[in-house]
Amino acid sequence: MKAEIIAVGTELLLGQIVNTNAQFLSQGLAELGIDVYFQTVVGDNAGRLQEAIKIARGRADLILFTGGLGPTQDDLTKDALADELGRRLVLHEPSMAKIEALFASRGAHMVESNRRQALMIEGSHPLDNETGLAVGNALTVGQTHYMLLPGPPREMKPMFEGPAKVWLRSLMGDEKPLYSRLLRFAGIGESNLEAALLDLIDKQTDPTIAPYAKEGEVALRISTKASNEAEALIRIDATVEAISQRVGQFIYAQDDIAIEEAVVRLLRSSMRTLASAESCSGGLLAELITSVPGSSSEFLGGVVTYTNKMKNQLLGIPLSQLEGPGAPGAISESTAAMMAERVQALASSDFGVSLTGVAGPSESEGKAVGLVYLGIAQLGKPTEVHELKLMGNRSTIRLRAVKAALYRLWQ
Ligand code: ATP
Ligand code: MG
Repeated sequence: MKAEIIAVGTELLLGQIVNTNAQFLSQGLAELGIDVYFQTVVGDNAGRLQEAIKIARGRADLILFTGGLGPTQDDLTKDALADELGRRLVLHEPSMAKIEALFASRGAHMVESNRRQALMIEGSHPLDNETGLAVGNALTVGQTHYMLLPGPPREMKPMFEGPAKVWLRSLMGDEKPLYSRLLRFAGIGESNLEAALLDLIDKQTDPTIAPYAKEGEVALRISTKASNEAEALIRIDATVEAISQRVGQFIYAQDDIAIEEAVVRLLRSSMRTLASAESCSGGLLAELITSVPGSSSEFLGGVVTYTNKMKNQLLGIPLSQLEGPGAPGAISESTAAMMAERVQALASSDFGVSLTGVAGPSESEGKAVGLVYLGIAQLGKPTEVHELKLMGNRSTIRLRAVKAALYRLWQ
């Protein structure tokens, strides 16, 4: 089945909002085994929307709309499609009752336009809106399937995950369901990962192996269509095994979790704690770790020592280490080691982690942009320091340095 997503909204064309719905829907459809061939964006304009529908009908079997189901004049997706299909709009009674009840409970006056949210295209199947008022629609006319979803992500996502997926699966009939597993990698870049697996990715058609880039990390999705889960598991396990033989040391999860979460879980299961001292990353490491719910038992705290003075005053690193002729400097292996050791001692944690380097845009201490030292101090063990040479702009260098630190902690 070939699908096209049409996102409707002038705000999208003006660049005021990002089309995250198209991304979400593309991922969701891929997981169902439906290929998305086109994504279109069109403004709140009936004529141009109908133009887009005509084009989509010529090249897709399934057309998904998102946006323009609301009560206002500029919400015209249903009207435009109904017109184009030569169908009427009819009232969906349960949705109308829900809208009336909501207004009654708030003691608010309902205006005529609110009724519009309960309208559906004649002959369509209603898609319940659990988190809003506008009812979704699904219908098949001739060879083409149409689905109308609301614009607000908090309404669109539950509708897609719930009633929309049920309807889509019914369309696919005998097609076997798709099973997939996400492998998450750290410590290896996208191009190196692809290079290591190029022949596997290329020749492998079942299961398929698809690379993803995700929040400064890379991931692979392994997917197969199978008649049951046991059959799918055997095939997916075999593919995972083949991948692991080459790059197994970089796989930190066979599940959709970020590396910071894997680190917190690992610390928790071994009952160990962590503290951080950051320079070039400005607290990003602490931010990512503390974004994991419940991390307060594992993460004791961190300091951001950006200047030499702060490295000296908070961590007690001698100024003679940090500056002056012949000093190793703030961006050095020995400073990274001291930062990690001092913060570990300060917090009485099991691990101390440090980052000091050049995030750019210009060099510092005569050291190149992207040079970062990562220190890991551990009670009773020699301190490790890793020298990283990272590529990218300021924000990607910072993120990559933090992800590298998390990867080393996970190891
Ligand atoms: P409403 O009842 O809120 O009017 P609607 O179904 O008519 O919902 P729109 O009016 O098109 O949807 O959009 C409402 C809001 O939903 C937008 O202001 C925007 O915040 C969000 N939104 C719409 N389309 C998208 C999209 N493609 N990606 C991300 N967010 C979107
Ligand atoms: Mg609207």
